Amino acid sequence: MGEWSYGRLQIHMNKAFDIGVESLSGGGRAENAGPEANPADHTVHSDLSDQFNSRGKMSFAGGATLADVSAVAKSFGDTANGGTFFLETFGCQMNDHDSEKVAGLLLSRGYRQVETPEAARMILYNTCSIREKAAQKVFSRLGEYRERGEGKIIGVLGCVAQQEGQDIFKRAPWVSLVCGSASYRKLPEMLAELEAGNKRVTGLDNDTDETFETEITRRDNPWRAYLTIIEGCDKACAYCVVPHTRGPERSRGSESILREVRQLAELGYSEVQLLGQTVNSYADPTARRMKFSELLLEVAQVAGIRRVRFTTSHPRDFGVDIVEAIDREPKLCDHIHLPVQSGSTKVLRAMARTYTREEYLEKIALIRSAARPISVTTDIIVGFPGETDADFAETLSMLDEAQYDGVFGFKYSPRPNTPSLALNDPIPEELKGQRLAMIQEKQRVIQMARNLAMLGQELDVFVSNKSRRENQWSGHTTSNRVISFSSQERELLGSYVRVKVTDSGTGSLMGVPVG
Ligand code: SAM
Ligand code: SF4
Repeated sequence: MGEWSYGRLQIHMNKAFDIGVESLSGGGRAENAGPEANPADHTVHSDLSDQFNSRGKMSFAGGATLADVSAVAKSFGDTANGGTFFLETFGCQMNDHDSEKVAGLLLSRGYRQVETPEAARMILYNTCSIREKAAQKVFSRLGEYRERGEGKIIGVLGCVAQQEGQDIFKRAPWVSLVCGSASYRKLPEMLAELEAGNKRVTGLDNDTDETFETEITRRDNPWRAYLTIIEGCDKACAYCVVPHTRGPERSRGSESILREVRQLAELGYSEVQLLGQTVNSYADPTARRMKFSELLLEVAQVAGIRRVRFTTSHPRDFGVDIVEAIDREPKLCDHIHLPVQSGSTKVLRAMARTYTREEYLEKIALIRSAARPISVTTDIIVGFPGETDADFAETLSMLDEAQYDGVFGFKYSPRPNTPSLALNDPIPEELKGQRLAMIQEKQRVIQMARNLAMLGQELDVFVSNKSRRENQWSGHTTSNRVISFSSQERELLGSYVRVKVTDSGTGSLMGVPVG
């Protein structure tokens, strides 16, 4: 990978699972371009349709067509002034998806997306501040942009923008735009202000009731379509910046969600992933008052949809109705990401996680009582202030009891605007590192055994990757495991193949096509 190339960089322990908790991705992912949109719509504004189709797939809100959006784009053409933008994204799936919406918004206003910062008039950087390292990277990246982006508009979006606000201008005076996720709607106006000669603009509101839904979304991933159904977070975990950077919980109306899913199916997507920091805290703001589990079932009913995923679930709001829905509807994928963070009730209390170890284990028991096996993955923070050896031993024993299929481990990182900042950071980095390594080693053994138990099973694989090695393909099972296999078929991307597991490792499964 060169300096300016991107691709997904998963920072987690379990390669067999790809939930993308942390990823580094950029606007440069052009591989696996999806099928074209309705060719009838192409004639109106071919530049625009090329822009969308060369990268993934597009969807329009409210049943609009490419022609409608092209007309909007034309009317905004003057605003864009032939502008080009380069967009790089760092962070979680929600950030990835926000960038897809930002790209759609700008494309619909006549801007053109380019593959390199050098080719762009504007460099936009969608950032993550969940841990200190992530936030530090932002400023080193901005330093690189300074060198390579002479005379360009440089903008910081996302969590670091919201967290640091105007201070970004002090640390990186070459930045001229700072915009948090609740203000993305205003981006075209903010960019127009900059084009008109304003030196600096900010969008840092956090109290909007609106979720960030756009007329148009330009999706990077041609196989799995992300949809944010709930924005922000009201949980206030002691260590977490999200309530500050993304604001309070706001759910999107069920009708609007279902409308977009229908459009996605029409575009050829067969797999959708509903997103939210606490996706299962979804509260339908419309008169239908649909429960989260009801929404899952309705999404699964949409013609053409074969797989429905959702992440991240918060243990407090995880009820039996979700397990029953998965039991009832095979299109609901058998994978739940249920972060535990710690196995010690004392530490969970200090983290303000709102459940005890026993209550969390009751949720695991609910999942394990399902009629079909459901994979469970989790997040763990080691070294939270006050975590003793005995507390940590409880986290290790949680791995034994819960038998996770994947664990994403993190060293505690004190963050601004969080309650636990006042606790300082008493646990030495070295000890955090040792604890993380112990989690990884224990989980490696558990996973090895769990993957070994899958030998001989036949699984449906949605093929999303063709290896450089000849005849090698890979994709995800419904439990979100990655499995690779060889096949002489000329084209398998985007198809479902039944694969028998013939080999397994800690982080991978191998198999052969059957049937
Ligand atoms: N909303 C999700 C939940 O509550 O489980 C998690 C969202 S957060 C983007 C992803 C993960 O980052 C968390 O589950 C937690 O393990 C980790 N994380 C968040 N803040 C952290 C911090 N200050 N230090 C270390 N890890 C942190
Ligand atoms: Fe952060 Fe806790 Fe909200 Fe998850 S539930 S986003 S960890 S505050």
